[in-house]
Order: sequence, then structure tokens, then C-alpha cells
Amino acid sequence: MSQSTLVIVKPDGLKKSLTGNILTRLSETKLEIIAAKVVKVNRELAAEHYRHLKDKPFFDDVIKYLLGEYHDRHKVLAMVYWGKDAIKKVREIAGATNPEEADPVSIRGAYGRITTKGVYENVIHASSDETDAEREIKLWFKPEDVIVDVYASKVATFKDVTMKVWA
Ligand code: UDP
Ligand code: MG
Repeated sequence: MSQSTLVIVKPDGLKKSLTGNILTRLSETKLEIIAAKVVKVNRELAAEHYRHLKDKPFFDDVIKYLLGEYHDRHKVLAMVYWGKDAIKKVREIAGATNPEEADPVSIRGAYGRITTKGVYENVIHASSDETDAEREIKLWFKPEDVIVDVYASKVATFKDVTMKVWA
């Protein structure tokens, strides 16, 4: 069954110039990239993305991590991978959440670390199930950013919408 999954190269991945290595590893899945963008993450987006962790003691650290505050890199690369069993395939190559416990040849096992503060800097995010994938993809991307219609969308017209356009 075709699925979509959100992959984020986190600020440590960008700081360590790992994007190429990560994309090469992910290409082993033979999945298609159907959306991609560099995002300067704001606090609302980070908090919404990690809302399932909001009662954890490390929540603030994880938010700061995604914002790039630990890496002086205020950006991430967000992508949607699409194809058969996409969620499981990407999670397998990503490896376990804890980079010390992750398979050493997985992305997190190879490139992740645990900081002295205890944050798992595990280089990438990957959606964990279909419900999360849908919620996360809709949070990070607009329908027109995704080149396959993986979720239903509609045309809406808003009055007095102000937006930035090319000069
Ligand atoms: N995290 C952490 N310590 C923990 C659990 C999670 O630093 O004990 C961080 C880690 O960067 C992880 C993110 O919080 O990727 C989201 O946690 P989740 O449990 O959703 O793991 P994931 O789905 O990313 O494997
Ligand atoms: Mg998760």
C-alpha cells in the first residue's frame, strides 16, 4: 500500500553537512520524494510537531534542538517520501530514537549522538505511523507543495488575505 511519510533533516544534520549522505541512504528505499523545502522553524511549529512530548522533562530541549538553537543553524530540510510501505522503510533506515541503541549502520546509529545534556541528536525525523504522517505532512506542507494528491484538499477563497508576492 502506498504511504507518505515526513522526513526532516534536523539542524545537526545540516550543520554536519550530512544531507547528501542521508539522501543517499534514503534512496535505498526506492521511494519517491514528492515534496521538499528548507524551513526556518518557529516555536509554534516545533511545539505542534512535538506535541506528543509536551509533558516530558526534555520537551524544551527538543524544541530548542529543532529550532536550531544548539547548532547555530536555524533551518531544517523537510521532505515527503512516498511509495509502498514508506513509513516502515524510512523508519528502518533511520534507526532507533536513541542513537546509542540504533543499529550502527542506520542513519541515527551512524551519525547521531547523545549530548551531555541528554538530548538525542539523531539527525533526522521520520513519521512513526500513518496518523502521525498525515498530521505532520499537513502541518509542514501546503497542498500545492506536494506533487501527488496524497490527502484530500479543497479550494478556499479568503477575503482580505495579505501575502508576500514577488516584486
Ligand atoms: N528525544 C530525546 N530524548 C528522549 C526521547 C526523544 O531527546 O528520551 C528526542 C529525539 O530527538 C527524538 C525526538 O525527541 O527524535 C522525538 O521523540 P519521539 O519519541 O517521537 O522519537 P522518534 O519518533 O523521533 O524516533
Ligand atoms: Mg516520533
